[in-house]
Amino acid sequence: MTDTLDTPVTDDTLDELRDWLRDNWDPDLSCAQWWERLGLAGWAAPTLPTTAYGRGVARAVAVQIQAEIAAHGALGAPFGLGLLLAAPTIADHGTQEQIDTYVRDIVTGQRAWCQLFSEPGAGSDLAGLTCRAVRDGDEWIVNGQKVWTSLGQTSDMAMLIARTAPDLPKHQGITYFAIDMHQPGIEVRPLREMTGHAMFNETFLTDARVPDHAIIGERNGGWAVANSTLGHERAGLGSGGGALGGTATPGTIAGNLERRAGDFVPKSAAPAPSPSSAATTEKATEKKSKRKSGGSASILIGMAKGNGTITDPVVRQGLMRLHTLGEIGRYNAERLKATRAGGGDIPGMANISKLGMSDIVRLQRDLGLEIVGAQGMLHAYTPEQQKVNDEATGNPFLAMVTGTAMYAQAPPIYGGTDQIQRNIIGERVLGLPKEPSNDKVVPFSELPRNT
Ligand SMILES: Cc1cc2nc3c(=O)[nH]c(=O)nc-3n(C[C@H](O)[C@H](O)[C@H](O)COP(=O)(O)OP(=O)(O)OC[C@H]3O[C@@H](n4cnc5c(N)ncnc54)[C@H](O)[C@@H]3O)c2cc1C
Repeated sequence: MTDTLDTPVTDDTLDELRDWLRDNWDPDLSCAQWWERLGLAGWAAPTLPTTAYGRGVARAVAVQIQAEIAAHGALGAPFGLGLLLAAPTIADHGTQEQIDTYVRDIVTGQRAWCQLFSEPGAGSDLAGLTCRAVRDGDEWIVNGQKVWTSLGQTSDMAMLIARTAPDLPKHQGITYFAIDMHQPGIEVRPLREMTGHAMFNETFLTDARVPDHAIIGERNGGWAVANSTLGHERAGLGSGGGALGGTATPGTIAGNLERRAGDFVPKSAAPAPSPSSAATTEKATEKKSKRKSGGSASILIGMAKGNGTITDPVVRQGLMRLHTLGEIGRYNAERLKATRAGGGDIPGMANISKLGMSDIVRLQRDLGLEIVGAQGMLHAYTPEQQKVNDEATGNPFLAMVTGTAMYAQAPPIYGGTDQIQRNIIGERVLGLPKEPSNDKVVPFSELPRNT
């Protein structure tokens, strides 16, 4: 994939998008029909190269494109792990035929994807994975267990990494496959989280089959491909990747493909673009950055003012710290953007941003619970319970506080734990020595393992 990060922001791109939206957006189209138009025109995943259903624009431009689509009152791209991770990885390493099969189905919302990477014994040490794939004619037979598979229960396809050569050192004997989740050899068991949701799953692969032509990149070269996926994951998380405006769900299992696209657009979205929607775009972008930096602080400030805890010096100090961390994140993002526009880079910034996000979410948890006091014990697991809580406490933000408190454990773990981010910064950015290890040269089958 071409390095698209330095592509300058051009008004022409946004002008072209406005004209295109005027000619193409129709709220009465089904989501599938709308996404077919959006995806094939290159607006669903504009950072992808033009050969992979994108437009080769920088991430900052893509945010402006999302904002413009939202400002027009149109439905946004089919967001999910397909768009965030699989599409850019396949664009980086796949053949044109694979791009035309998999990426096309992602940008048009036809297929939802999940990530079959982590295993019970291989999370931070991902290259220690033991899920095996053995060649059988034109196919591979896969056996093993994955865990933490976000949205596995509603996915059509998966990014799978499996060991194909145990006699090679551990990073060299791994292959990356695009595997069909609709088959008897794959069993997905949801895991109930303390939030009450079951977002992730255990996934059992028992004689599951995947064709040889579904290998992404080289056979036994899957580690490099997996690192591409992880790079896109950190960049997406660090940049607060996500959708502005309306979103609907892609895929054939829980997807909204046959539903009316207009029903997924927030009522407040502007129905049509103004002649100078650059201002609208700026406002939407500003709104998003506020939401990311100051948004949570201002909700907590409002709550603290409402119940009087604002006079507590410890709460005030925490609120100031939360605001400051948000501003540091925003300035770092601006600094990176400016450096890239000048042709440079700031190594480790994606890791630093992710660490910053972990700090923010932990502080939101502690501060939120401090402000709401004993009400923090009233978590609602259903919309009905939330209604009862809202009425009893008079605080419509209570569910946000308790939900954040329970979910706050996740960001410091997914996409590489805080400790792993620090290791990466230490070793790859600061040049500190790695922990001594012989696993780069010893065959995986000879490495000592817990059984
Ligand atoms: C919400 C959520 C969603 C997820 N979604 C997916 C998904 O869709 N697909 C998928 O494949 N995975 C997913 N994961 C898994 C995630 O990538 C792993 O949980 C993560 O990589 C950590 O692995 P682990 O849980 O095995 O912990 P371990 O690797 O066992 O780590 C345990 C502890 O030891 C520390 N540690 C480990 N090694 C080192 C070291 N070398 N130096 C210092 N400290 C170390 C860790 O930081 C951690 O504190 C998800 C996780 C979460 C929380």
